[in-house]
Amino acid sequence: MNATKPSSTTCYRCDAEPTTKDHVPPKCIFPDNMRNNLITVPSCEAHNNSESSVDEYIRNLATMGFEASHVGLDQFKAKALRGIQRGNSKFQATKAVMVDPATGIQQDAFALGVDYEKVMAALTKIAWGLHYHCTGRRCDIDPVVVSLLTRNEDEEVSKNTHDFYNLSVECLSTFPWVGENSEVFKYKFASFEDGHLALAHFYDAPAFIAHYRASA
Ligand SMILES: [Zn+2]
Repeated sequence: MNATKPSSTTCYRCDAEPTTKDHVPPKCIFPDNMRNNLITVPSCEAHNNSESSVDEYIRNLATMGFEASHVGLDQFKAKALRGIQRGNSKFQATKAVMVDPATGIQQDAFALGVDYEKVMAALTKIAWGLHYHCTGRRCDIDPVVVSLLTRNEDEEVSKNTHDFYNLSVECLSTFPWVGENSEVFKYKFASFEDGHLALAHFYDAPAFIAHYRASA
């Protein structure tokens, strides 16, 4: 897959003819009243639907994060929590009981298992879309995507992620945040000698970094 056709005639991920538009990031992440000029990219049928089952999943993860803003928590309560309580969420939710140590009052709670592969599939899809949106071209090498929504228990991985995040923030420090619904989704996208770098936030909390190496 060396020759890249002019992007306007292809899907944002493959050579197929684009018959649909795909939202970047998925529309469900945005509350109904914060959907100004959502980003879309031309997509073939297959790539528009390929990861749609994880859209809800990534929204839940983005909105429930400890660092998510109140807008995120409101969206989590409105959409995600209801899904989890109905038992039809993509999360593997386990019923648990949370005890307030101060009062001893018990409350229903949910322990959520994170499916790392699903998270990465969803974030990578967004990274591809962002590249297309910002450059007008499909990226010809798979981007390296680092999730900031998940925590790794391995100390070294955790430290590497942290270092990579700090380095990226520094590289991007002079670039402006972009995003019409910035409370929900905003990003920085910059071009350097060795390719492009993107940092994305969901609900004001770091979500992922994508590094797009330039093709040789
Ligand atoms: Zn496609």
